[in-house]
This record gives sequence, structure tokens and C-alpha cells, in this order.
Amino acid sequence: MIPLRRPVLPAGLAARIELKSEELRSGAATTRAAREAWKAARLVRAELGGVLGAMASGLERCMYCGDSAGSSIDHFEPIVRAPLRAFDWLNHLLACTHCNSNHKRDQYPCDDTGACLLVDPSREDPYDHLRLTLSTGEYRAVTPKGAETIRVFGLGRRVLCRGREMAYPRCKSMLRDAVRQHAEGRDDIAREVEQALLAQPFADVLYAMYRTLHTPGAAAVFEPDVLDALRRVRLFAPPAGARAVVVPPRAGPGAAVAREAPPG
Ligand SMILES: [Zn+2]
Repeated sequence: MIPLRRPVLPAGLAARIELKSEELRSGAATTRAAREAWKAARLVRAELGGVLGAMASGLERCMYCGDSAGSSIDHFEPIVRAPLRAFDWLNHLLACTHCNSNHKRDQYPCDDTGACLLVDPSREDPYDHLRLTLSTGEYRAVTPKGAETIRVFGLGRRVLCRGREMAYPRCKSMLRDAVRQHAEGRDDIAREVEQALLAQPFADVLYAMYRTLHTPGAAAVFEPDVLDALRRVRLFAPPAGARAVVVPPRAGPGAAVAREAPPG
């Protein structure tokens, strides 16, 4: 899971979903009515799916596991709990069938104050709650919200851990290649490698590498050439408080790309 920027909806689509919400508010506003209205709004769902696909990491990957194609719109706060939020854009995330139907379903755990215990990647940085061990592909929680997020979304399932574990050497190899291409003056090829890297599934592995870069133990985690590559090829903006780097507007799916940032 990586942080995602939720765009402003096109005006026409925003007006259409507001109209749908208004119809729900003025009607029975039951779970059944909301589900039927959502199911019937085929065109609206298709348009929302297009916006969410562009917002997702990689090539329209699931916003929870980052592996499979995001095939359906998940109501982060389930319709059964909040029927009036069925058409709330801020409540829509793109999920794969496995995460949506086999894991999250209608779960929405909350703490004693009523605050949700699931990480919403469009509202907060998952890194504040979760840590990825790059060598094994396993997540561990650093907050109760992180623990519930791992449990509810099934982020510890074996196939995901194995996929992240294998994505790590692939990311390192592509980063090394991008640096080499830049060094040999083939910037066009280097940029192709960078875009291909951003389009890979398991964007959380690359994101975790960049977050690790800004920790005191980075030199002990990465080989020297990988450390150098992460410093030179800036595919994710550094976290707040880290050394300032100019980040131009988003140039690739799911990531802020800072090109030609000074090495070091
Ligand atoms: Zn998924």
C-alpha cells in the first residue's frame, strides 16, 4: 500500500454523483436502496472506475494489495454501515476481487472513539502504520491501525509476501540500469526504465525503498550502488522534513516524480 493522490472529479461526473446522493438522501436511505442505486448506476460506476484507475499505482493496480488489477470500486466505509455514502467520491477506492470479496468485505473496524482502524491510502501515508521488510516481503504493524489493516486486507498472505520479495531485486536491478543509462548519456532509455519501474506491480516495494533511504540505517540495508541509485533516480518524493527536493507535477501513475534532482 502506498499513498495515493485523489484527484478532483470532472465537474460533470461530480454533479452526477451528487445528484445520486441527493436521491438517496430524499428516499428511503436503506442499505438495500443504496445497493440497488449503486448497481443501477452503470455509467457513473464506469466513469468513476476510470478516474480511480488513473489514480492507482502501476497499471490500475488494487489500492490495497498493489498486485492484482483493480476490478471493482470498494466502498471504504461499507454501504451496510453508511448507505448515504454510496456515491461519496471520498469513499471510493479501487480494489481487486480477492481483496474486496475474500478479505475486506463489509469490515470497518473502529477504536473506542469510533475512529476507523483501517489505513485509507488516499488520506494518509501507510508508512505511518506499516513497515515492509524488503528482504522477506512481509509487513509488520507499527500502530494498532497498521495491525488491523494487515489483518482486514490480508496483506500477509503468502502470495503477496513472495511477490514483494521478488519485486525487491527487480527494483534494484532496474534502478541500477537507469543510473547506467543516464551515465552513458542515454537519458531517453533511462526514462523508459524509470517509467517501466513505476508501472510494475507491488509499488509498495519501491515506495518502501525510498522511505528507507531517508532512515539512519539505509546504508546497512542497501548495497552501495543501490543506495547511490536511489539518491540519483528520484521516483518518489521524500517524506516531509527530509532534504528538500523540487517535485514537479505528477508525471507517472501513482507517484510523484522528481527528475534530475541533484545527486547526494
Ligand atoms: Zn488487492
